[in-house]
Amino acid sequence: MILDGKALGRRIREELADRVARLGERGIVPRLDVIVAAEDPSSVTYVAMKHRWAEQIGISGKQWPIDASTTEQWLFERIDELNADPDVHGILLQHPLPKHLDEPAALERLGAKKDVDGISPQSLGRLMTGAPGFRCATPLGMMRLLDEHNIDCEGKHAVVVGRSVILGKPAALMLLERNATVTICHSKTQDLKGVCRQADILVAAVGRAEMFDESYVKPGAVVLDAGYNKVEGRKGDVGDVDFQSVEPIASAITPVPGGVGPMTVTMLLSNVVDAAESRLRP
Ligand code: NDP
Repeated sequence: MILDGKALGRRIREELADRVARLGERGIVPRLDVIVAAEDPSSVTYVAMKHRWAEQIGISGKQWPIDASTTEQWLFERIDELNADPDVHGILLQHPLPKHLDEPAALERLGAKKDVDGISPQSLGRLMTGAPGFRCATPLGMMRLLDEHNIDCEGKHAVVVGRSVILGKPAALMLLERNATVTICHSKTQDLKGVCRQADILVAAVGRAEMFDESYVKPGAVVLDAGYNKVEGRKGDVGDVDFQSVEPIASAITPVPGGVGPMTVTMLLSNVVDAAESRLRP
C-alpha cells in the first residue's frame, strides 16, 4: 500500500478551505506570519510553497525577511509584536535562522498559542506531557497518514531512526502516545540494521539518500520516509529509503516525493486554522 500524502494532503486542504470560508463569515481571516532567512535559497523556496498553499485555502500572511544585518533585538521585538497582535494566528520561524541569531531563544519567546509549527520548548513540553497544544507538523503528518489508512500502532514495535528536535524525537513521542513500543536510533546506534529489522513501523528521519534498502526492513513492515535529499545528477528530491527495493516487501510505504512532505505543509496550515477557530471559543 502506498501512503499517498499528496492526495490526502489535497483532500485535507479542501476541508480546510471550507473551514476558512466559515471563519470568514464570522469576520476572521486566518493569518500565518513567517520570519525567514532571505539569504537561504531552500528556506525561501519552502516558504514560497507554504505561502502559495496557504493562499489557496484563504489563509493570509506576511513574510518578514531577515538577513545578516538583522539584530537580535529587532527579531525579539518582532516576535513580541506578533505574539500580541490579535490578527495573527500563527507564527513560523523558518529553520534555519541566520547563524548570528539565537534560534532557541527566539523559539522560547514564541507564544505556545501561535507556535503552529509545534517546535517551541512549550509546544514540545506539551507533547511530552500529553497536554493539548500544537504538534510538530512533520511527525503529525506521518501520524495522520497512519490514522487515515487505519494502521494501528498499539503494541507494535516502532523504530525511529533520527533524534532531531523537529522530527525524530517528536515522532517517537507521538508513536508512544499511540501505544507503540518505541526504539529511537541515531548515528551512534550499534547494529542499526538489526534494530531496524525488528520494526513493525520504521521511521526514516536521517537525511541520507536511500540509506535504508530492503536489508533494513522486516517483510510486512510499515515504512515512513521523512527524508528529503538532493543527489547530484538526479532531478528532484530523494528519500532516506530505497523505495524500489523496499516497496515490494513493505505492507505500506510513503513515497518521496508525495508522502510525508506534502503532509507537513498541510498539517502546518491545519494548525493555523485550529488557532483561528480557537478564537471563537470562550
Ligand atoms: P538532522 O540532521 O537534524 O538529524 C538527523 C538525525 O539522523 C540525527 O539524529 C543523526 O544522529 C541521525 N543520523 C545521521 N546519520 C545517521 C546514520 N548513519 N545512522 C543512524 N542515524 C543517523 O535532520 P532532520 O531531522 O532535520 O531531517 C532529517 C531528514 O528529514 C532530512 O532529509 C530532512 O530534509 C528531512 N525533513 C523532511 C521534512 C518534511 O517535511 N518531510 C521536514 C524536516 C526534515 P545524531 O543525533 O547521532 O547525529
